[in-house]
Amino acid sequence: MKQINTIAVLTSGGDAPGMNAAVRAVVRTGIYNGLKVLGIYKGYEGLLNGDIEEMTLRSVGDIIQRGGTILQTARSKEFNTPQGLEKAISMAKVFGIDALIVIGGDGSFRGAKDLSQLGMNVIGIPGTIDNDISCTDYTIGYDTAMNTVLDAIDKIRDTSYSHERCSVLEVMGRNAGWIAVNCGIAGGAEAIILPEKEFDIDKDIIIPIVEGRNRGKKHYLVIVAEGVGGAVEIAKYIEEKTEITTRATILGYIQRGGSPTITDRVMGSRFGARAVQCLVEGKKNRVIALRDNKIVDIDITEALNMTKTIDNELIALSKILAL
Ligand code: ATP
Repeated sequence: MKQINTIAVLTSGGDAPGMNAAVRAVVRTGIYNGLKVLGIYKGYEGLLNGDIEEMTLRSVGDIIQRGGTILQTARSKEFNTPQGLEKAISMAKVFGIDALIVIGGDGSFRGAKDLSQLGMNVIGIPGTIDNDISCTDYTIGYDTAMNTVLDAIDKIRDTSYSHERCSVLEVMGRNAGWIAVNCGIAGGAEAIILPEKEFDIDKDIIIPIVEGRNRGKKHYLVIVAEGVGGAVEIAKYIEEKTEITTRATILGYIQRGGSPTITDRVMGSRFGARAVQCLVEGKKNRVIALRDNKIVDIDITEALNMTKTIDNELIALSKILAL
């Protein structure tokens, strides 16, 4: 492989708390290893537009505690076309980019893989609050998002108890119910509805609520993942069937923001440093991952072909603990 002198980093797809820690680690580990590090603004869009500048040790100062991404992010339609990819490669040549580090989700990694097939050296860092990237046990932003959801659940429980109400809370997770299942367990939900599992509203929601009421419960919590949706309709149905006053809350984008937790700062830092380390060692086209509590790197094509299923033990546990 050609000697790598200049690397570039971008954040792509949905923002996630801890992305800044990863950017900071890439920049500082890169410079520590004698590399020139460029920051690309607004994801692949910025690569196409040449929205690129050299990063210094100081340009990533005072960012580790900040949510979002200082590099900003975007979803670029143009990039995901043959002409867009060619344009990205030629812009990378203009800026002398020898390798590109992409912090984002599966979609962003597919883009990176396409670039690798055109000769660019790429490394992916998993950054998305949903924890829905198959090759890794952890994605940057997941812990902070879960803590935000849990804080909301605790607040909603207070008012639910005071009014003897049922609350239906919709949390993020389009294709994966990781946030829903863990926050459901941590928040004491009566029912958790996930995109991975078919559900029957009477069996999975109404019966647990009614049985809970018969055992003396004073308030009820139903967690619905975004990918299932319909929190308002579910709340209406619960109220009609049980006569328990029921309110729906859709948490939405609040889950994306906030100062990253220690887990996200440390994971972001470790993933970022490992990405640079791979390039220094002459590895290319890898995705950084956490597997069995170890940081590893996996071939990008292999990583994109992996599958990850929701943990059935967690689902079973949530049902027992809701008794
Ligand atoms: P999140 O999980 O937060 O949604 P993501 O990385 O999966 O993150 P996407 O919107 O799917 O988010 O992808 C980000 C960008 O990556 C897209 O705007 C597009 O430019 C590029 N991209 C997505 N899918 C592909 C693909 N199949 N091939 C090439 N590029 C892609």
